[in-house]
Amino acid sequence: PEGLGVEWALLWIRLAGADIAENRSRLSELDRAIGDGDHGENMARGFAAVLAKLDAEPAPETVGDVLKVVATTLMSTVGGAAGPLYGTAFLRAAKVAATPVDAVGVHTLVDAALEGIVARGRAQVGDKTMVDAWTPAARAAQEAADDGAAPAGVWAAAASAAQEGAVATEPLVALKGRASYLGERSAGHRDPGAESTALLLAAAARAAQE
Ligand code: ADP
Ligand code: MG
Ligand code: MG
Repeated sequence: PEGLGVEWALLWIRLAGADIAENRSRLSELDRAIGDGDHGENMARGFAAVLAKLDAEPAPETVGDVLKVVATTLMSTVGGAAGPLYGTAFLRAAKVAATPVDAVGVHTLVDAALEGIVARGRAQVGDKTMVDAWTPAARAAQEAADDGAAPAGVWAAAASAAQEGAVATEPLVALKGRASYLGERSAGHRDPGAESTALLLAAAARAAQE
């Protein structure tokens, strides 16, 4: 019983897709302030394609298979920076995901996703990107798993750290991605990719509470 199986993974991605769709204009508005205003559209298009693919294909049998569908679909349907970054994140997560995912496995998964994003985008903490949400999420997941939390508790810790990390991007000056073209003028706005990361991790946590 202590573990998150394929049903959890499918619910995660369905909840994430619904949350992204619901927050589409808010995410694009964040991107309008410091980028080109398309992050909500990019993510909504990608997740709509992911959900369509999951509905159309025979049900995946492992958590890794679910995450692999997410990865390949996001890579092929999300334009811009976020597609390959999230695609790599989900691909790395797919590779390390056991079925079911236990508490330590949640940390392993979040850590692998972060490593994929850094390998792909070369952003550091403080560059005002999604890395600023994933990094505290991975740290919080490790601490929660070390403290003996259940998988749902590890996700909850990761999600709340990601949300705090997203808020904490507001005063930062962007050093990577399109927002970096604005220089000092990028300060005072929340990074859209950090915000979408917080949404995705919150959906994982909600699915784990089911
Ligand atoms: P684009 O900037 O190509 O329009 P999106 O708007 O979909 O792509 O995504 C922008 C988000 O991508 C940013 O808010 C940031 O979080 C993330 N991002 C951009 N470049 C990098 C990078 N090198 N490393 C990590 N994240 C990045
Ligand atoms: Mg954009
Ligand atoms: Mg764009």
